[in-house]
Amino acid sequence: VPGVRLENVVKRYGKIIAVNNVSLVIKDGEFFTILGPSGCGKSTTLRLIAGLEFPDEGKIYIGDKDVTMTHPKDRDVAMVFQNYALYPHMTVFENIAFPLEVRRKELGLTREDINKMVVEIARFLSIDHLLDRRPSQLSGGQQQRVALARALVRKPKVWLLDEPLSNLDAKLRLLMRAELKKLQKTLGITTVYVTHDQVEAMTMSDRIAVMEGGRVRQVGTPDELYYRP
Ligand code: ADP
Ligand code: ADP
Repeated sequence: VPGVRLENVVKRYGKIIAVNNVSLVIKDGEFFTILGPSGCGKSTTLRLIAGLEFPDEGKIYIGDKDVTMTHPKDRDVAMVFQNYALYPHMTVFENIAFPLEVRRKELGLTREDINKMVVEIARFLSIDHLLDRRPSQLSGGQQQRVALARALVRKPKVWLLDEPLSNLDAKLRLLMRAELKKLQKTLGITTVYVTHDQVEAMTMSDRIAVMEGGRVRQVGTPDELYYRP
């Protein structure tokens, strides 16, 4: 069973067709990138998978479950945004714990379970010494790690990342590329990654979908899509 499947998905905003008849099969455990210029429909595609938007036509599956019209909290996905979207009034600990807190009863977790899970993922991302700070007291790279930790703490089936490295400086971006990729491989989590950066797509992805004007133009491995002398 694929990790994520889109079948003839269409999303319109008035006269604009943001996503135009897109079909994709994203394999379980793969690092899949949607690559294309600004405005081509990458973010909308990701938000449709997240359930932050609903398609006008087509079907979306996560695993073997039809999630086309289901609420984000009923999809086993976690999303990381370009601007991190951390809660400024909460500590790092509280930020990371939040996705667990809101589902605490449903997941049957005790406070102690939550403590353990937060500390474990924070250690994994080398931010366990920052748990008492607030986001404003962190560097950009540290904030990004907190956002990654918050998205991973509940061990979602699918990880959705929208240009997560674009606000970092060039040096940190290179470092985080490698870290993110390692994290993804270690966890074996199905990942859909959105970027307009061809080098980023080539170095990180198992497969890439190239989008243009709301459509998928090509899908393939970096080697299939780009000639590298
Ligand atoms: P990308 O992520 O590739 O930059 P988007 O998915 O954000 O592209 O946008 C695709 C197209 O849909 C663009 O023309 C954009 O202006 C339009 N669009 C996206 N979101 C909205 C919205 N909420 N309302 C109206 N138009 C939108
Ligand atoms: P990105 O290119 O990274 O997706 P954008 O700046 O295009 O970022 O979009 C940021 C937000 O603005 C998104 O939530 C998107 O839905 C919304 N948006 C994008 N284009 C439009 C538009 N033409 N009209 C209204 N909202 C839009």
